[in-house]
Amino acid sequence: MTPAPLVPPRLKNDCFALPPGIDWTPVDTALGLLRANLTPVVATEELEVSQALGRILASDVLARRSNPPAPNAAVDGYGFAHAATGEGPQTLPLVEGRAAAGVPFSGRVPEGMAIRILTGAILPEGVDTVVLEEDTASDAARVAFHGPVKLRSNTRKAGEDVVAGNLVLPAGHRLRPPDLALLSAVGLAKVAVFRPLRVGVLSTGDEIAADVGETTLPADRIYDANRPMLLAMARRWDYAAIDLGHVGDDRAALAARLDEGATEADVIFTSGGASSGDEDHVSALLREAGTMQSWRIAVKPGRPLALGLWRGVPVFGLPGNPVAAFVCTLVFGHPALSVLAGGAWAPPAGFTVPAAFEKNKRAGRREYLRARLTQDGHAEVFPSEGSGRISGLSWATGLVEIEDGARRIAHGDPVRFIPYGSFGL
Ligand code: AMP
Ligand code: MG
Repeated sequence: MTPAPLVPPRLKNDCFALPPGIDWTPVDTALGLLRANLTPVVATEELEVSQALGRILASDVLARRSNPPAPNAAVDGYGFAHAATGEGPQTLPLVEGRAAAGVPFSGRVPEGMAIRILTGAILPEGVDTVVLEEDTASDAARVAFHGPVKLRSNTRKAGEDVVAGNLVLPAGHRLRPPDLALLSAVGLAKVAVFRPLRVGVLSTGDEIAADVGETTLPADRIYDANRPMLLAMARRWDYAAIDLGHVGDDRAALAARLDEGATEADVIFTSGGASSGDEDHVSALLREAGTMQSWRIAVKPGRPLALGLWRGVPVFGLPGNPVAAFVCTLVFGHPALSVLAGGAWAPPAGFTVPAAFEKNKRAGRREYLRARLTQDGHAEVFPSEGSGRISGLSWATGLVEIEDGARRIAHGDPVRFIPYGSFGL
């Protein structure tokens, strides 16, 4: 009988509370807080390994069996006991029969004799060493080669890859194609995984066209750039992306849509209306709900984020500017979603490259520049830092991260480049 899915506890109302008294919270403080306060919000289930790509392991996985389970040949060739061989030309008589993968040789190979053996075949009794076919001459009765051949050459030890009972993959690991190979090789047909996190995406603002496909728009309307981007990010991260559509700057309509979203999604990303202006209804509603935390993060691009719970469901109120929405989703959303989904906290891997630009940066906030690598591996940045410049996001292949303090960057100075791929895109 399959046990009923375990429903994890809800997040605490104050899970997004920032330390008091700090005006602009440093990025690392904000990240540390997300890491400390977020917990998985999805139930677990058992899945066939073949169906589990992209899922996150709900428990540690131990090998049911060793890989390889028995010592075997790593090449096609001839197997023998090393003890009976030495330096110089060697000629060994062959036993009758052969050892092949899946068709083992059942007898014993006497010391001083050899056997034809194929890749993957279990080493027959009496065989501890294999000589590569290309290094031999043979007729049906004998095999000749030059010694010395090293003990156990061209053989694989039982369990040399994985030993039965050992940890193969930890809870929180997201399964990629090679992981399916590993799980299968050590005898696991099913694994316990988290259900896919459902990520709802909602756009707000009177200026946003309701339908992405509208062909003519009056000048006071703009196409919705954030929703397709955020939905695609959620999908790329192997979450279930839920399109919650668009609502205008209308508090009742927004509240109703958030209500719907809270039943359909495990976490909601909104864009627009997250500051404290007249038409910033996302933050106003979260404030009314009593869970609102205005995240004034010392980061550029990015204006305040509105974080809170709506009917127990975490809401990330992103800025409307597509560049800020994108960068905030990469920097804060990506790790936060991973934890909500049951995964590990995984800071993006960046690397240091010479700058192909110059910049004078003031102290006080961390900056993320839209960047890409030149042919010779230098980081160039998009000429404009304007946060409405969507073309720069598309032009870039990653971000240059500049630390919180002041920094004068000259051509050739080391800078940290984080490819989009390091954020899982
Ligand atoms: P807001 O955060 O609502 O003050 O919006 C900041 C800027 O982002 C404004 O110029 C909005 O028009 C723009 N914006 C908001 N939502 C979107 C969207 N979904 N797609 C493109 N631009 C947007
Ligand atoms: Mg707005």
